[in-house]
Amino acid sequence: MSDDIDLRNNELDNADKEFEQQIRPLSFNDFSGQNNVIENLKVFVQAALQRGESLDHVLLHGPPGLGKTTLANIIANELNSGLKITSGPVLDKPGDLAGLLTNLENNDVLFIDEIHRLSPVIEEYLYSAMEDFRIDIVLDKGPAARSIQIKLNPFTLIGATTRAGLLTSPLRARFGINFSLEYYDAVILKKIIQRAAKILNVPIEANAADEIARRSRGTPRIANALLRRVRDFAQVKGTGVINLEIAKYSLKALKIDEHGLDEIDNKILLTIIEKFKGGPVGLSTIATAVGDDSGTIEEVYEPFLIKEGYIKRTPRGREVTELAYRHLGIIKPTSQVG
Ligand code: ADP
Repeated sequence: MSDDIDLRNNELDNADKEFEQQIRPLSFNDFSGQNNVIENLKVFVQAALQRGESLDHVLLHGPPGLGKTTLANIIANELNSGLKITSGPVLDKPGDLAGLLTNLENNDVLFIDEIHRLSPVIEEYLYSAMEDFRIDIVLDKGPAARSIQIKLNPFTLIGATTRAGLLTSPLRARFGINFSLEYYDAVILKKIIQRAAKILNVPIEANAADEIARRSRGTPRIANALLRRVRDFAQVKGTGVINLEIAKYSLKALKIDEHGLDEIDNKILLTIIEKFKGGPVGLSTIATAVGDDSGTIEEVYEPFLIKEGYIKRTPRGREVTELAYRHLGIIKPTSQVG
């Protein structure tokens, strides 16, 4: 991860949390982009409300920072339901899951982040909870073991994952609604930035919002994080107003290049070119060379580099493209075969 600033981090400190609470969209109308997902969800939510039933279980997948947690909040709000939040790695004891589930009220929403990291035992419990709204708890061990069945209130499980491929098929099959979130285009990110700036009461000029949007890796979390940092620069180095000049100055200071790639993105590309002749090279080898973990590279960095056309996946590993050479101003050796 970058030394000075980590714009993608999921772990929030208190200042982040406060900021999050201020700007997180609370209704479908505040949420920009992902139009197809939103249009469908609106219908499903309205239908569930009209029938007085719980919404079908929802699986949301896509890279970090695209709005999965935000959507879970919005769905619960739009359903006028309560929301309980947990995550796959945290939920490691069946008793904890049972506690959460038995506390859900009629049609409440349970959000499980990183659902691909649930332990198999917990997953097993979830099956009957999702399907029949009941759980079987085993009491005692050995010959005295007996199981009791607890009935649950109907609820909606919203699962979020950055790695849909790691979900087991029985779990995946239990989600009636399944959406993939896409990276945002700059026009939408600009709207998101302008909305957040307005809430934060920071004046921002349109071309500055454009510039930040363009360099936010298609990700609202990064757009918002950049806005906060640029706001600091505007306050300390400028007049408090975010204009194009201060935006460019800040982005340069944050080592975000003209195309929105940050230090680590560029390091990944450079490593593949310099150490592995442009690839193909395996993910774990890249991770070791870059000094990051392969899960992070695969979930966080690579999807964007692939989407923007800097890297491609081949059966033999990752390869950089012509664009990556051009981006770094390196001439591709002609002897090299793809
Ligand atoms: P994820 O759960 O996918 O990692 P989050 O839901 O936590 O992402 O979103 C990260 C940040 O981006 C939050 O601050 C949220 O307010 C903001 N955000 C995400 N999607 C949108 C959107 N479509 N419109 C406005 N803000 C958004």
